Amino acid sequence: MSKFVYFFGKDVTDGKGSMKDLLGGKGSGLAEMANLGVPVPPGFTITTEVCVLYLKDQIYSEEVLKQIEEAIDKLETLNNKKLGDPKDPLLVSVRSGARVSMPGMMDTVLNLGLTDKSVIGLANKVNDERFAYDCYRRFISMFGDVVLGIDSDKFESLIEDKKKELKVESDTDLDAKALKELAERFKGVIKLEKGFEFPQDPKVQLQMAINAVFESWNNPRAITYRKLNEIDDSWGTAVNVQTMVYGNRGNTSGTGVAFTRNPSTGEKKFFGEYLINAQGEDVVAGIRTPDYIDTLGNKIPDAYKQLVDICQRLESHFRDMQDIEFTIQEGNLYMLQTRTGKRTAAAAVKIATDMVAEGLIDKETAVTRVKAEHIDLLLHPRIDPKAKLEVIARGLPASPGAAVGKVVFTAEDAEGMAEIGEKTILVRTETSPEDIGGMAAAQGVLTVRGGMTSHAAVVGRGMGKPCVVGCGEISIDTKSNIFMVNGHTIKEHDYITIDGSAGSVIIGKVDLIDAEINDDLKQILVWADNIRTLGVRTNADNPADAGLARELGAEGIGLCRTEHMFFGEDRIPAVREMIMAEDEKSRKKALKRLLPMQKEDFLGIFRSMEGLPVTIRLLDPPLHEFLPDKEELDTKLRELETSGDCGKIDEVKKVIQRVISLKELNPMLGHRGCRLGITYPEIYDMQVRAIMEAACELANEGMQIVPEIMIPLVGLVKELSVTREEVCKMAETVMAEKGVRIDYKVGTMIELPRAAIIADKIAQEADFFSFGTNDLTQTTFGFSRDDVSKFVPIYQKAGILEHDPFAVLDQEGVGEIMKIGIEKGRSTKPDLKMGICGEHGGEPKSIHFAHQIGLDYVSCSPYRVPIARLVAAQSTIEMRNAK
Ligand code: ADP
Ligand code: MG
Ligand code: MG
Repeated sequence: MSKFVYFFGKDVTDGKGSMKDLLGGKGSGLAEMANLGVPVPPGFTITTEVCVLYLKDQIYSEEVLKQIEEAIDKLETLNNKKLGDPKDPLLVSVRSGARVSMPGMMDTVLNLGLTDKSVIGLANKVNDERFAYDCYRRFISMFGDVVLGIDSDKFESLIEDKKKELKVESDTDLDAKALKELAERFKGVIKLEKGFEFPQDPKVQLQMAINAVFESWNNPRAITYRKLNEIDDSWGTAVNVQTMVYGNRGNTSGTGVAFTRNPSTGEKKFFGEYLINAQGEDVVAGIRTPDYIDTLGNKIPDAYKQLVDICQRLESHFRDMQDIEFTIQEGNLYMLQTRTGKRTAAAAVKIATDMVAEGLIDKETAVTRVKAEHIDLLLHPRIDPKAKLEVIARGLPASPGAAVGKVVFTAEDAEGMAEIGEKTILVRTETSPEDIGGMAAAQGVLTVRGGMTSHAAVVGRGMGKPCVVGCGEISIDTKSNIFMVNGHTIKEHDYITIDGSAGSVIIGKVDLIDAEINDDLKQILVWADNIRTLGVRTNADNPADAGLARELGAEGIGLCRTEHMFFGEDRIPAVREMIMAEDEKSRKKALKRLLPMQKEDFLGIFRSMEGLPVTIRLLDPPLHEFLPDKEELDTKLRELETSGDCGKIDEVKKVIQRVISLKELNPMLGHRGCRLGITYPEIYDMQVRAIMEAACELANEGMQIVPEIMIPLVGLVKELSVTREEVCKMAETVMAEKGVRIDYKVGTMIELPRAAIIADKIAQEADFFSFGTNDLTQTTFGFSRDDVSKFVPIYQKAGILEHDPFAVLDQEGVGEIMKIGIEKGRSTKPDLKMGICGEHGGEPKSIHFAHQIGLDYVSCSPYRVPIARLVAAQSTIEMRNAK
């Protein structure tokens, strides 16, 4: 018999912490806390399995209903109270909880079980009418909003009206009479909106609430959140039904959220916020601005001490920073939730290294605690310390990093602007889950209300968006689309800068600079290096990038593109002369001019990579790329014709002729790569000479230089053997001239399907392979890389393609071809070195894949190198654990 309902509470807990998939994060956390003897109000969890079944059939089996009924009976017995009892009612909360936490995404109903009759019983029992009606009006509005789908503004505006009528500021100033009237009006709203009365049977209330939580799995904002976070749609959520405890019972009651360490900086200091005399959502909803947790010790000392103590225990138990929710009812502490806390990139790194030092976790675990996105963020821009700043306001530093953009006031505007490539800062009074899309589209978020755990703060940190919250000095005027602060008026689409690390709002566009790698991160990366077996190289074609990459941990260059060197202002005339040459002799003359420049480049790169391999790709792109644009030339010609400068006219006409003759219909599949080297051998000759002269000269200075010459776009064995012979001949010539021998290699790119398929034969002519996955993707899909933007986004929207294959390696197709290439290549040359270069080399999923299929190294842009080091280690750990 399947178990669909799991009980939790002192001495009666069925579940445990490891049952996340079945009980959801919240349910398994509650069970684990109860098992640890932490005070948790008792309740039960209906499993995610039930959710999946219910969403499929819209019905519960007899067995499920029976188990729920039994759990309710047990809860009633345990509390010695009954649901709906007119004298002393049992009240419960109905809470969602999926496998992974989805902050604010799913909905919770509090104080369920109150009715017109039982509210009187509650008031009498605790001798507090105000409290009872406060609970009742909260329940009716939450039920209306969450279960019946009525816009919460309909209730909120009635509260605002009431406060105006009574001339009071805060919800807590409303007396029992006012709250009772509000409850009546709320019921009126429900009748009006839905056409039926607010249900007065607690069992009906409960069933409706359970259904609503399950159904909320499929509400649009939950779906958006899952999409953004790549969460599986098929998991479903669990439902937790839990005995209510009351934080709104006066000044020794309260509710709050806390982190066992600072989630923003990682500092080992208890961190959190609370509100006295408040219930549930008040803290996170940003309605009242909460107090810092430290001050709770002065107000309710015993409960505070116990809270600190429990939090420490939870952290040591879970061996990770915890994010907890608690309520204090008349001095008694209850824990309502614990989960692994979300943290900023900086905090992730600090917490991981600190916990190793504290002996809480080992180095390997520390390496898995830092995510690729974290490193990406740490390498994100911050405000240039030299920049002059006009700070116009300060709020709370909720999510670090700096962002510059144009002010927008709605999520839609942020999304619309992003579509036309505009950067924005989303400015809101407070954010709600409806704003998720806009937050993702904006560079940063600024809110007027809310604390460090408000919606904007939590979501901002999760997304890694710079975020300043609770900036109360700002007043937004939504009618004229402006905001005012300290004498400044900022209009919609004016530029501002926010600093989410300092909490400041700055007028205008401020210069940002890249962040550096701190000692903690260096430590994590060193641990990662000790674990990983996959090599990490960089793509670099100048000494500065090469040096930077080396500092960031690159173990060589995996791809040095020589064509970039041809674009330099001082080179392009010589390059053009070479292309314009009508015969071999004049081409050689032009190449002679290029030789010393190209050699200079290699000298610099070899020096920065001394002792490490440098893979240099011979010229790859079609020649017309180096000539001016045809339209530009035509305009120039017209200008010259009107000014009558006959001398130059002929020259321009000649260039136009050459452009026309070089024009290709499919340049991506045209006269490029080794095809160029074979048709104009003198070009590759010059390049090889430059490489070898540079290498030999440095070798003569006593340096160890490891050149690897790479031939692009090979599809036929003969293409490689012919080119290779040329390369070796030139290399030998230069070495003889310089009187030194160098251990150089000649290899090829595998970037055409044909090359992968005949890799066994190609391997016999190659010292190494490098998978050029950009071209391999292009030629495997038959997608021109320059034209994909016309259809790939539409494919993604329609679900035809999950990812852009140029961003995330297509394992199913391109990956399979790579596997063929690896297997066949090693079948004839078992120790053939193989790597991957191109955009995919720095993308986490593709790095995992490269490791899994047995490549020796990945090569990526300098700033992706630390990410690749980390992911390579995580991949090793993952594969080891999978065994
Ligand atoms: P979320 O997933 O959005 O955090 P929760 O289910 O945790 O939603 O509920 C939100 C808040 O409601 C909790 O932080 C807590 O303060 C309050 N709450 C939930 N259940 C109870 C309960 N049984 N007693 C008192 N407060 C509760
Ligand atoms: Mg919660
Ligand atoms: Mg290529």
